[in-house]
Amino acid sequence: MNITIIGTGYVGLVTGACLAELGNNVFCLDLDQRKVDLLNAGGMPIYEPGLKEIIERNVEEGRLRFSSDVEASVAFANVQYIAVGTPSGEDGSADLQYVLAAGRAIGRHMRDFKVIVDKSTVPVGTADKVRQAILEQLAERGMAHLQYSVISNPEFLKEGAAVDDFMRPDRIVLGVDDDAQGRHALAIMRELYAPFNRNHERTRVMDVRSAEFTKYAANAMLATRISFMNELANLADRVGADIELVRQGIGSDPRIGYSFLYAGTGYGGSCFPKDVRALAQTAAEYGHEMKILAAVDEVNQRQKNVLADKVFEQFGPDLRGLSFAVWGLAFKPNTDDMREAPSRTLIGALLRAGAGVAAHDPVAVEQTRLALAEDFADRPELLQNIRYVDKPMEAVQGADALIVVTEWKNYRSPHLAALKTALMNPLIIDGRNLYDPHQVTAAGFTYLAVGRNNLA
Ligand code: NAD
Repeated sequence: MNITIIGTGYVGLVTGACLAELGNNVFCLDLDQRKVDLLNAGGMPIYEPGLKEIIERNVEEGRLRFSSDVEASVAFANVQYIAVGTPSGEDGSADLQYVLAAGRAIGRHMRDFKVIVDKSTVPVGTADKVRQAILEQLAERGMAHLQYSVISNPEFLKEGAAVDDFMRPDRIVLGVDDDAQGRHALAIMRELYAPFNRNHERTRVMDVRSAEFTKYAANAMLATRISFMNELANLADRVGADIELVRQGIGSDPRIGYSFLYAGTGYGGSCFPKDVRALAQTAAEYGHEMKILAAVDEVNQRQKNVLADKVFEQFGPDLRGLSFAVWGLAFKPNTDDMREAPSRTLIGALLRAGAGVAAHDPVAVEQTRLALAEDFADRPELLQNIRYVDKPMEAVQGADALIVVTEWKNYRSPHLAALKTALMNPLIIDGRNLYDPHQVTAAGFTYLAVGRNNLA
């Protein structure tokens, strides 16, 4: 099948590459010419395990191409995916300008039947707006008779495991209209996704609004679990309980389960923060207050300060003359995504209080430089006090404490004796509860983790 993907970010690029891998011919459109040029030169705009190999293979075999030619992209395929960004607007609502621009582009150039597949995360009712945007363009061209169907196919992939998630989805949600075009669109999508349903049927067909809502409901539920665990952890610190033992104690109940039950430094990334706010904003537009979501967001904002708070408790508010090793910058392992990453909050607090930072991350250093340039637009000179190192142990050399922010696998089993020798102070502040408190305290460290300080 011929497929067009509009937007080659984390979702669009993975979707395009994986659909090509299944044997489809895929045209990836992006308006960012630098990104298109980079991809055409064999480079990668993002880090995602396994993605580069798939792209290389499919480009070489002629099934995958990258372009900024809008007209050609619309002409290429009957199936047009919209996978552009939907960032938070000023009031927290999803900014639909890119989605609607994509819709207008399709309406401006289409000449035959199109299935417009909305993969971006968009508020309930957006498909109606896209349909309208297309219709206005068609009407201007005197082609309002052309038929099309706007369907919702939210994406549930996780950054860091995106290829695997896309290739082996838990479920495929398709929101379609119950009319002739909708049924035609559904038949096409079933054929396209047939390879994912070989073993058992994973597709859940529903109306468009329910599909749009499903994506927000999923992310809001997951974000709620994280904030809930973080609240429990902060209380555990105060009452002298260990949140890790509590986690295991409750996770064993199948109604609760172990997944997504970790206390830490708060959620980040491009999805949970904006989607929680956008869902709350949708509710507000309908005159309904979502109290839990407001609390989830507030708890998360507070949690992002938890590591800096622990530093200030130890060293006081003035950190001049001190330096800190930071392990992990990306908002989670196996990605270079720095959007709303907790490390930015921590590094912001450390540098502004006068400290130096030596930071390590296996893949996110370039994205960190860009993100911090934005965060420190008011005081760029402070960025002289952060240096990036190639190996984790280089960061700790002479540092006043080690702070672990992202749970990359290579931080899990450090050589404790070497760590102790390298640090000025034997202090580990662990935002991911990676270590056994008994083991690190027995090795002579002061160990400050999240929700388990009774054991320190
Ligand atoms: P992104 O910012 O990484 O990529 C968006 C891309 O779209 C950019 O390359 C941009 O240049 C391009 N673009 C914008 N307008 C365009 C237009 N009119 N025509 C062509 N290209 C255009 O975004 P992302 O992280 O891939 O997210 C895309 C959507 O998917 C969002 O709605 C997001 O909420 C959702 N989503 C993201 C994830 C994730 O893990 N990143 C997971 C599930 C869903």
